[in-house]
This record gives sequence, structure tokens and C-alpha cells, in this order.
Amino acid sequence: MFNPNEIREQFPILSTQVYGKPLVYLDNAATTQKPRCVIDAISEAYCTINANVHRGVHHLSQVATEQFEEARRTVQNFINAPHSRQVIFTRGTTESINLVASSFGNSFLKEGDRVIISTMEHHSNIVPWQLLRDRIGIEIRVIPLLPDATLDVEAYRGLFNERTRLVSLTHVSNVLGCTNPVKECIDIAHSNGVPVLIDGAQSTPHTKVDVQALDADFFVFSGHKVYAPTGIGVLYGKEEWLEKMQPYHGGGEMIQTVRFEKTTYNELPYKFEAGTPDYVGAIALGKALEFVQQIGIENIARHERMLTQYTLERFAEIENMRIIGKPDGSAVSFLVGDIHPADLGTLLDRLGIAIRTGHHCAQPLIDHLGIPGTVRASFALYNTREEVDTLVEGIKRVARMFA
Ligand code: PMP
Repeated sequence: MFNPNEIREQFPILSTQVYGKPLVYLDNAATTQKPRCVIDAISEAYCTINANVHRGVHHLSQVATEQFEEARRTVQNFINAPHSRQVIFTRGTTESINLVASSFGNSFLKEGDRVIISTMEHHSNIVPWQLLRDRIGIEIRVIPLLPDATLDVEAYRGLFNERTRLVSLTHVSNVLGCTNPVKECIDIAHSNGVPVLIDGAQSTPHTKVDVQALDADFFVFSGHKVYAPTGIGVLYGKEEWLEKMQPYHGGGEMIQTVRFEKTTYNELPYKFEAGTPDYVGAIALGKALEFVQQIGIENIARHERMLTQYTLERFAEIENMRIIGKPDGSAVSFLVGDIHPADLGTLLDRLGIAIRTGHHCAQPLIDHLGIPGTVRASFALYNTREEVDTLVEGIKRVARMFA
């Protein structure tokens, strides 16, 4: 196991203060803080190897290209993809899902075809499908939840028909903090001949992801939630789909030949990487994933589960505490009595505690639960039990003010 207090020293922002109080950063599901090695990788890339990738015969361009492609192999290794050409760099989860909705949609979907999502999806895994529905008239079917807010897998089985073309499902809910039985859901879809996209935004930073063991057809995640910079993310896809899918954006690097009459497209992954990619971001993402691998994702998961367990134990002391859903990972959503989430969040902020409040970009889920939103504490490898104690004392203090 690692010592979170030693880890903290590698994250410069964690020693800053907010309103004269030590920062207690519990908003990691929104974005994680960055270790020194990632910050340095960005600076080093600009100081030593910066040049546009794939286009130059000159030395710097070749070194930049090598490091960019090395980062792709690091991602391949991290998610156990069969080949690096199946790793496409995007701006993040949102862009990856939009890419699939657009390219898979254009290539394989027709009016009346069905796409299955779930009640607990992030807006990023709802709106791209609605845009497609508006454009070509697909039908969106939604997996309901059981009373304990977990996925109703039996109801899911019943949503398939001969027009079902894709399932797009979150691995871990960013609101409920629960892990969906994605392997079972993928197997059910495959037994119906339907491919599956897994939104790994909230799982990749906290659990071992193995796209081959999952047999996911597409798997997407964001770098910034796994200690990498903003603006870089990943779409993994099976070659059988990616090869047949139309490109997403048109432009430089995604082409083989361009004539005014006809253009032919580049091989994977470049077919889906139009324009100058964020190669510095990709290199820094590679660094971040190496950082996680050095510590061990299983160790990180164990530490975060311990923090979640400890939070639930300590929350039991708080009067009128209501846990939303069945958290099993690294995020806990809650409400305290009838204190509005925004009020609780604002007052905790004055104590230096950063937590997220509101609908967490999952309005249909919040509506389903019939609540105004939630307060969410979400953990990363650098959080400590002492920070949970500070959170608990902060909530008790706010609750006394409202009593
Ligand atoms: N899906 C889930 C489950 C998320 O938690 C998030 C980020 N909150 C997203 C998608 C969107 O990620 P990004 O904003 O990095 O594209």
C-alpha cells in the first residue's frame, strides 16, 4: 500500500489554502488534481521537443511523434487494448461519445433503429443520441432503475428488439457512485448481436479496466479525471467497427489522398484524428497513466473504497443523513434533512472543503429520484481519513446552523 500523505507532496495544489483553511479537495469525480510529474511533462515537452507531429522530416517533429505514439501505447497497455491503432485520442469522454454517435450513427443507423442507454447516464451519454434522433429518427430506450437506484438488468433484457443497434452505458455512475454490471450487460447485448459502448469516465481512474476481458466494442474516458491535463481523452474501439465507420471530422492527417473529386481516408487511428492533435496533452496523459501504474490501480481502488466505507460509517453519526444510491467505489452522494445541496456546498466551501452540488449533469436521474440534486464527495488516491473527518465536522456544523 502507499502512504497518501507522501503522495500528497507530489500534488502542489494540495498544500494551498482556501479562505485561510487547508484545502480539502473532494471533487475528484469532476476533475482530479495533477501530480508534479504530469505538470513537468507538459513543461518539458514545450521546452525540449515541441513540433507538430507526423508531418515533419526534421528531428523535433520526429521526437514529438515518437513520444505521442509512445503515449498511445501506454494507453493501449493501460486498458489492455489489442493494438494501439484502436486507441484514438479525443478531447475527452464527451467528444468520444459524440464521435461514436456521429460516425457509427452515419454508418449503421437508420430511422426507427434503437439505441439503449440507462436512467443514470451523464448528459454526455444522452444528448449525442438525442441529436442523432433529431437528425435521423432513431429511437432511444432507457434502462430503468430498481428501487435501490441500481440498474434493472431484467428490464434491460426486455429492451432488445430486431432494430436494436447499440447499447451505450456508464461503467460507474458519477452521481450514485455505483458500479454497473457492465460485463453482464455486454454479454446480454452480444447475445442479441448488439455492440456496446462503455462510458469509463468514472471507472478508469478507480478500477482496473481491461477492454478485452469486458469485450467492450467501444470504451471511452477523459484524461483529466485520471490525473492528466484537460482537453485529452480516449476512444477505444474494436477494429471491426472503427474500420467500417465514417470519419468524424475532416481535415489534415485523417486523409490518404485528397482530390477535389474524391478523398480517401487514412488508416486507424488517424482516420479519426483530424487536425493537429493535442500531442502534448497525450504525452502528459501517458505520464499520468504511468504514475497510476507505478502506484497500482488496485492499491488506489482499495484506498478509495476504504475512504468511502469510512465516510459511510461516519455519516451514520449525522442526523437526517440520506445516502443517495448504493455507493461502492469512490464517490458518495447525499442529502442532509431539507438543507438544499447548494447551501450545504456553499457553507462547506467557506471551511475549505470542495465538494460538488447539484444535478451533476444527470438531470433525468435527479428527476427520477425526485430530489433537488445531491451533495457529492468524491475521492482520489491523495485523500485521507482526516479529510473525511473534516468533512463530517463541517456537515455537522452546517446542520447545527440550520437546526
Ligand atoms: N460521463 C460521466 C459518467 C462523467 O462523470 C463525465 C464527467 N463528469 C462525463 C461523461 C463527461 O466527461 P468530460 O466532461 O470529461 O467529457
